[in-house]
Amino acid sequence: MRVIEMSSEPAVAGDRNTVGGRPILQSEEDWPDCTCGRRMALFFQIDIPGGEHLLVFQCPVHNEAAFGPRQLPERYWQTPVGGNEHAFWRILLHRGDVVAATPDETLQPLRLTLRDAGPDDEWEFRVGGEPAWIQGAEHHTCACGAELEFLAQIPENFGFPKRAEAPRQIDTFDSSAYGLFLGNMVYLLVCPRRCDPAAAWPVNQN
Ligand SMILES: [Zn+2]
Ligand SMILES: [Zn+2]
Repeated sequence: MRVIEMSSEPAVAGDRNTVGGRPILQSEEDWPDCTCGRRMALFFQIDIPGGEHLLVFQCPVHNEAAFGPRQLPERYWQTPVGGNEHAFWRILLHRGDVVAATPDETLQPLRLTLRDAGPDDEWEFRVGGEPAWIQGAEHHTCACGAELEFLAQIPENFGFPKRAEAPRQIDTFDSSAYGLFLGNMVYLLVCPRRCDPAAAWPVNQN
């Protein structure tokens, strides 16, 4: 288990552990769009143990909580589910190495650093280990039939600093930052079969 820490150092092109900045993609065309048509903001990306790259995106203007059935439908990452109007988030896990030609326009590009976690770090922003559930454990089955597995956790009301010129996020808890899923605690679950680079689900709790 590793703790993810935000630094005040600006991220530059080619950095792999960042808030904002230039996403590392499988191809330039893979930068996800919300179903509203807007290009999604890159909240963060990190290299994870085993050589894969994790990226978490959300629409700059759609900010909702994620709810879904235990058995997730086909292509649940690009299908609005749980009463939401848009498929407004995307989680990608892949081994590509294409640096996007332009940086994210919403969040301040900042470097992230990873350190080994200690016994008191279970509520931190972290990757690996076991989930620290606020409510009961939640399970979801991928459209491919595999039980999703825990990968990472984002604390409640975790603010990703916005660029000065970016508008204030809708329904934010922090006027100078953007949050994921209305500031809910987020548990990233991913398909162990990697049936698709986007086969991942964000469990929200508070
Ligand atoms: Zn949108
Ligand atoms: Zn799957």
